[in-house]
Amino acid sequence: MAVYFIRATELDECIGCGACADICPVDAVTMANERPVVDNDWCIGCGVCAVSCPAEVISIKRRLERQAPESFTHLHQQIKQEKGLELE
Ligand code: SF4
Ligand code: SF4
Repeated sequence: MAVYFIRATELDECIGCGACADICPVDAVTMANERPVVDNDWCIGCGVCAVSCPAEVISIKRRLERQAPESFTHLHQQIKQEKGLELE
């Protein structure tokens, strides 16, 4: 599945509460030395952690390496191509 967003954290301002690790729906966050470590291959950029962070140090950024499709038609064509299906 293509994911176009990713979490970014201002670690200097993090208070080490662990709330973002507890709430992440895909378990992309672990705590190490009272700081969150994000597995970027798992993060889906959903933003749930950002709204749960009491220190407000999490933001959601666009993944620069992935260009979002211009439209749903384009997205559907992209998915069909990836699955080897016939294009319209
Ligand atoms: S943005 Fe979503 S998937 Fe990524 S670390 Fe936060 S809660 Fe987890
Ligand atoms: S929720 Fe915010 S303050 Fe708490 S560990 Fe995560 S980034 Fe740090």
